[in-house]
Amino acid sequence: MNPQLIRGFCYIGASILFVFGLKMLSSPATARKGNFVSSVGMLIAILTTLTAMTEIKWIWIIFGAGTGTIIGAFAARLVKMTSMPEMVGLFNGFGGLASLLVGWSEFHGSWSTGGTDLFTIVAISLTILIGGVTFSGSLLAFGKLSGTITGKPVLYKGQNIINAIILLTIVILATLLCSDKLDQATVFGLSAKYLVLLVSIVLALALGVLSTIGIGGADMPVVICLLNSYSGLAACAAGFVIRNNVLIVSGSLVGASGLILTNIMCKAMNRSLANVLFSGFGSVTSAKAGKYQGQAKSISAKDAYLILEASNNVVFVPGYGMAAAQAQHFVRELADLLEENGTQVRYCIHPVAGRMPGHMNVLLAEANVPYEQLVEPQDVNPTIETVDVAIVIGANDVVNPAAREDQNSPLWGMPIINVDRAQTCIVLKRSLNPGFAGVDNPLFFKDNTRMLFGDAKVSIGALVSEFKD
Ligand code: NAP
Repeated sequence: MNPQLIRGFCYIGASILFVFGLKMLSSPATARKGNFVSSVGMLIAILTTLTAMTEIKWIWIIFGAGTGTIIGAFAARLVKMTSMPEMVGLFNGFGGLASLLVGWSEFHGSWSTGGTDLFTIVAISLTILIGGVTFSGSLLAFGKLSGTITGKPVLYKGQNIINAIILLTIVILATLLCSDKLDQATVFGLSAKYLVLLVSIVLALALGVLSTIGIGGADMPVVICLLNSYSGLAACAAGFVIRNNVLIVSGSLVGASGLILTNIMCKAMNRSLANVLFSGFGSVTSAKAGKYQGQAKSISAKDAYLILEASNNVVFVPGYGMAAAQAQHFVRELADLLEENGTQVRYCIHPVAGRMPGHMNVLLAEANVPYEQLVEPQDVNPTIETVDVAIVIGANDVVNPAAREDQNSPLWGMPIINVDRAQTCIVLKRSLNPGFAGVDNPLFFKDNTRMLFGDAKVSIGALVSEFKD
């Protein structure tokens, strides 16, 4: 059979595995399998591409694969779960850089052999623009999330206009690259077109930094999803540059899925993407401290145990504080004890709880919480009045009733978990301080709310001990 036909079939097979892998990633029960299926697809794609190459320097392939494997193995072991967003950010950035280098090297190679066609030049320009923005933007996002640089949005006058001018300049430079006007021109002995390409790369890198610097550190997970989508688009453009079908398919899948995730997160925060990207959210505290008055009623672990012991139906609502306290294993232990006591247990996870998409799902999976006990807010909210106890573990914004009750609240309209409507709500946190959005929470002052103050791991541990005693 024609080798090219066989390669075509292999690429189609790899693409099908990518699609099925992605589908499986949408449920915790099949996510591991999905990861494996997608990696098999990638292996097939790489091997097929290698067989298509006539001149191949194996030493570079082995060096690249070996280095990648070593870094991946170390990252999997050393990077903490809470540092996942910045690691994903870094990986996106390298994806963008790889695409940028593909575009640059194709231009470089074709230049020495007398230039290339218009379609390829357009694809190279797109690869360089999107790849450059993704690379520098992701490095900045990494710095913000890891605390290496300030997490506060850096804002200045005319920021968006400056960014728009840079983008426009890159588009004009790309048009110059496509025209034949500069074909013979030289600047300082260097081909003018080559210089235009280099300036475009520098401007794309600058645009990545300048468009990310105005976004607050806590919005970075959304930005990382968007940059993930960009890295896919850059790979897709690179696929057009080197005419590789499987790269076009995989890049499109990453681009589309990243965009869908970005949209889901924005919706769950009731914010538009434009608001995340351009509003500088987090630069000022959005609500006045002490806006909601009242007496928060604290409760001891012993009294909380008595309420739990008498309950038939409990919903755990985890949030960022559970991740910070690493309380997930104790939460699972408490849930087991409640079930032994005849209580129905569910875990309600808000889509933006924590600091990265799926943050709570990952932690609860780590504690081997059965998937069927995980429920979504829309499954719990309609019947939340029938829930005996809602235990809020280090969650704050995602259970803030101001989103429903206070039109002046920055959270107004954000879909929340209505724990304030449960029979009793026990909130585990260390103080009455606000969460990520910096917005006070009237939940703490509701008649049916009890505050179990302290580190979530210590508090849940105390409840477990009460049950065991
Ligand atoms: P949150 O509103 O940030 O609140 C977390 C609470 O945890 C804090 O109020 C803190 O209160 C408490 N806490 C911290 N350490 C604790 C510990 N060791 N023990 C007990 N409590 C502890 O968290 P959330 O309700 O999960 O909401 C997530 C927020 O992040 C949302 O506003 C969302 O829009 C935003 N966000 C999420 C993502 C994502 O991908 N998930 C991305 C971007 C933005 P104390 O200091 O009083 O203990």
